[in-house]
Amino acid sequence: MSAATLFENATLIDGTGAPPRAEALLVTDGRIAALGAEAEARADEGTTRIDATGMSLMPGLIDAHCHLAFDDAQSNTELFHQRRNALSALVAAHNAKKLIRAGVTGILDPDSTFENMIDLRDAIDLGVAEGPRMACGAYALITSIGGTAGRLINDSGITGFYMAVNGADEIVAEVRRQIKYGADWIKVHVTGVVPRQAHKGEMCAWSDAELRLICDTAHDLDTPVMGHCRGADATRRAAEAGFDMLLHATLMDEAALEAVVARKVPLVPTLTLLANLVDFGARVGSSASLIDLLAHELEASADTLTRAHKAGVPMLCGSESGFSLVPYGEWHYREMEVFIRYLGMTPLEAIHCATSQGARALRLEGEVGELVVGRRADLIAVQGDPTADVTILGEAGRIAHVMIDGTLRDLSPLPERKPISGWRVASFGQRLDRAAAFGPGTERARAAE
Ligand SMILES: [Zn+2]
Repeated sequence: MSAATLFENATLIDGTGAPPRAEALLVTDGRIAALGAEAEARADEGTTRIDATGMSLMPGLIDAHCHLAFDDAQSNTELFHQRRNALSALVAAHNAKKLIRAGVTGILDPDSTFENMIDLRDAIDLGVAEGPRMACGAYALITSIGGTAGRLINDSGITGFYMAVNGADEIVAEVRRQIKYGADWIKVHVTGVVPRQAHKGEMCAWSDAELRLICDTAHDLDTPVMGHCRGADATRRAAEAGFDMLLHATLMDEAALEAVVARKVPLVPTLTLLANLVDFGARVGSSASLIDLLAHELEASADTLTRAHKAGVPMLCGSESGFSLVPYGEWHYREMEVFIRYLGMTPLEAIHCATSQGARALRLEGEVGELVVGRRADLIAVQGDPTADVTILGEAGRIAHVMIDGTLRDLSPLPERKPISGWRVASFGQRLDRAAAFGPGTERARAAE
């Protein structure tokens, strides 16, 4: 039998939504073996005892939308043209350690430059790199219409973390290729910006038949499909086509909400990036019009997302860490705060989203995300009570212990790293500012309608 660990004197937040309670927890063989009096009774001389007085013991955070290869990029130009494959994978391995230190025990990495996060996932699984449990997509599928970077994206083939596919044959071949080489999920950029119609926001870039073909091809190989959808039309059509999870799903209308609720399609709203720009954009030089635009998207989405949650649609927490406004290791708790503020959740509901519901992103429902006997021991001990204030989960130094698969992880401070020459090109804020000049909700867009 491998080493046993007993956490004593902690307040247990089990991730199911149940109220916190004082209870011991015993881990053996990488799994939660017993709780309460039985946990104490089964501990022996060989058991490592951890006194967690004053701490909350909870499932580790699962960030369902995190790009480890992006290295806090400031622009798409940077990602498309400045990165080198092996170096970006090595840097990602460094950044993965920041996630562990922030209490993150699992992430879904939807798409990466060079598809190299599939290799990092395998390296972590093999024990040659240190990081959270990972599930991965490969390249994000787009059509020649492109994603959010408009004409920067090639009409076919690879651009950065994108793969443009044209027509049914290319769709089927690419979905099968990604699954063959290790993708846990197929990621589709359902919406993109059409430069001359940017005032309409992101538009659906696929036909319904194409969306269904992606789902059918992936599902035949037991692989789920997730979609980036910003806009009502795309959200509805992706839900109806059989998508298994939707990222963003902002700006839904009644028909989109109905389609999502009818199928209980899990949502990863990823409002953190928007909320960070709204709250801190002025400090990094974002214009008032951009901040106004994003505040509008947040507020316009809060009502339908709240109704989706109340109707039983699973909601997962994603930070979109990987961009300069959401640096690794600092914001993984933030979506909970945003869910509480904008979607009216209680702290326990928000924690449930960041833990138990997050297991869906890892395709490990019933295996991780809850402190329940039999689950794998992916958990954290944090000083204080996150049910009184979830933001303490983002405070440096409060995460006292992080355990993955029953093994306590190294939380010692990381050495300083240097910036990589040539990787920084233009400010992400500047790029968004340019997009905002014609974005939905702006003066110019309203005048054009
Ligand atoms: Zn993303």
